[in-house]
This record gives sequence, C-alpha cells and structure tokens, in this order.
Amino acid sequence: MTGRLDRAGALPGTNLEQTRALNRRAVFDAVRRNGPVTRAELAREIGLTVQGISNIAAELEEAGLIRQEGKRVGQRGQPAVELSVNPQGGYTIGLCLAYRRAMGVLVDLTGEVVASDTCDYAERHPAAITRILHAQTRRLIDKAGVPEEQIWGIGCSVPGTVVNGAFWYDKVQEAEEWTHFPMAGELERLTGHRVILENDATVASIGERLYGIGRVANSFFYLHFTLGIGGGVVTDGHHYRGAFGGAGEIGHMIVKPGGRLCPCGSRGCLEQYVSFYAAAEAVCGPDRAPDEVPAEELAAYCRDGDLRILGWQQQAGQYLRIAIRNIEAMFDPDTIVIGGGLPSELLDGLIAATAPLLPVMAHRSASRLPRLMPAEHASDLPARGAAALPIAMAMQPNISNAAWSRTSKALPEISSPALAILGVATARG
Ligand SMILES: [Zn+2]
Repeated sequence: MTGRLDRAGALPGTNLEQTRALNRRAVFDAVRRNGPVTRAELAREIGLTVQGISNIAAELEEAGLIRQEGKRVGQRGQPAVELSVNPQGGYTIGLCLAYRRAMGVLVDLTGEVVASDTCDYAERHPAAITRILHAQTRRLIDKAGVPEEQIWGIGCSVPGTVVNGAFWYDKVQEAEEWTHFPMAGELERLTGHRVILENDATVASIGERLYGIGRVANSFFYLHFTLGIGGGVVTDGHHYRGAFGGAGEIGHMIVKPGGRLCPCGSRGCLEQYVSFYAAAEAVCGPDRAPDEVPAEELAAYCRDGDLRILGWQQQAGQYLRIAIRNIEAMFDPDTIVIGGGLPSELLDGLIAATAPLLPVMAHRSASRLPRLMPAEHASDLPARGAAALPIAMAMQPNISNAAWSRTSKALPEISSPALAILGVATARG
C-alpha cells in the first residue's frame, strides 16, 4: 500500500489499527531522535495529548521498543519519567559491498555495533558475491547471538545506481551481468530477511550524517572516492536525493569541455580523471583492466614515489579543485568530506594536490571547518550507514518514496513482532 498522509496525519481510507500504527511509529521515531525525552515533550512535538502519548508509550514499552530511563528532576511539580529507545528492542544489519572487500555490522536500535565482519574477496560474478554477503550475514548473526526474529532487516550499500533491486555497476567488465542480477531478491531468498539496496555514496553520507562529520556539520557534501567517484548531499541535517535519486552524482560533472568520452555519453566528466579507475589506467596503461588492479598495488606505488602515480595525483588534483569550487557554489556546505575506503596514500596525495583551493566567497572565512577534509577513518562507517536503512524504512513503510521502496515483491520469511506493532508488514501470506 502506498499513499500520502492527509492533513490530519492519517492515511486516507485506512482503518483505526493503521492509524494507531502510524501514531506508534511517530512516537517511537520521536523517542529515537530526541530521547531521553518526557511524555509532555513528546506530546508537544507530535501534537497528541499527554494521555494519548502515555497509552502509546505503554504499548511500545510492552513490545520492548522503548524503556523508562530515569526521572527528570529540577523542574516544577512531580519529576517526569524519561523515555529512551531500548537498545535490545531490535537489531539491523548493514553490509557494504566495496571494491574487493565486504564489510558488515550488526547494530542495536541505537546504532551501537554488536558484531562486525570484514572479508576480502576475489570473485567477480554477482551470484558468487551475493553468496559471500549471505555468509557474512550468517557470521554476524552468530557472533552477535541475537534471535533471527529480532532482526528488522538488512541494508546493503552497493557501488552503483540501484534500479529495481539490481544495480548499475558500470565500472567492471561484467557490467551487463550485474545490471540484470536481482541482488536484493536473491539476498532476501538466501537470508530470509528483507533487504534494501542503496547507492554507496548515499549510504556513506548517511553514515557520516549519523556517526561522523554530521555531529559537527549540519550541511556537508560527501565525496565518495572508489572505483569511480560519487557523492551525497546533506543539507540542514537532511539527506537530499533529488527528483530521481541522482543528486550528488559528482562523477559526471564536466570539468574539461571536449575531454575524454565518458560511458554516460558526455565528454570531460570528473570521473574520467579523478577515480581509482583513472589512477589505475594512468599507472598500468591500457594492457590491464583497471578493475583487476588491487588498490594495495597503487598504494605501494605512492609509497615508493612512483612518478606515474604522483603525476596522476597532480593532474587529478587540478580537476578536483574545479569540482570542489563548483560544489561550494551550488550547495554552500560547511565542508566537503572526502572518503571511500581506498588506501590513505592515494587520497592524501590527491588532497594535497588541490592546494591552494580556488578562491571562494568572503562569507566562508568565518567557517570553523576546513573546506575539504578527509572522512573519519572509522572503517565500519559505511556499513553502519547501511544498517540505518531498515530503520528508516520501518519509520515510513507506507509512504511512496523511491529511496526506501521494497525491491522484491515477496515478503521475507522472518518477521519481527516489534515491526508488527509498528504496522510494518513482515510475515509471508
Ligand atoms: Zn559522465
């Protein structure tokens, strides 16, 4: 079912139980974002009566989703009970499929990592890699020792644009095979859990917003440097996807009119000059496919001062300067963060080559943050961002939104009772 909220906040044509589920989600989400929080504060935020909030809070507490944390003292009248999310109320899994490496975390409802797993792989075909992700999911659940029905779902970050549960992985030789492989559905079939795929740059920016730079910057642009180069836009604390989900696709910003031909059809796109792909081609020439060059090999060239890789960094830095200035002109962010999980030797030299940055409007001079900064090197950050996807999905399951729409028609095998309380359909049949 999809639909828009009417002005009273209820879905038109729905029954009482659905309206109650909607209110439970609103209360749970408000506790999640603002907790510890009192019932009176929740009533003000959501626009329900304190009695109404108390009834819903009692239901959520019984379902194990929230808990009483203590009492607010120092105010007039009776000390007010504070409510917080119960960390053990549910768990989500975040997987990050990166270049030759899969990182996974299992987190509790507050986003704390309960178990993590990293595995390197050499396989290239989508079916084999999906089995690797399934095995990683099994290891995470075993390590964490949580019951299957407590798991809300799996968010998976993938290096491409997601279309109908598959993704457009145009940087590898097997691109055609990937495009037609129903990865979300296949991973759901193997794991029994619902799976949400999302583009890696988007997921990384969600991870940065929740756990990284987002703690000190309200508006930032995340430059995701992997085989290609992508980006995510966070403005005023919200992630911006654009009308078609392509906002921040910085790799196709033209930085050299009439330059190299890009698979997108344009010439002179940033990605043709600033990407792992471009670096590998500059160093190894046309004889080796760039996706066959291990990242560690390029890092070693950097350490050895190889002139080919240093030359690439110098040239790529000039194009990156143009891109940085264009991003600033467009979004006016607090800062631009560059990350993506490639060896730091590659990134450090590239960032150094952008200095001095192109001149900027005077109003920026008051900023506390540098204009360009490396991402926090918390290696589980993208996977933690992916683990936030099932929660975001649970908070708005009935709203038509391309970002969170389910990617396969079949419902998952395993259903969480907590999700049923929130009105999220999980059981089969
Ligand atoms: Zn392009």
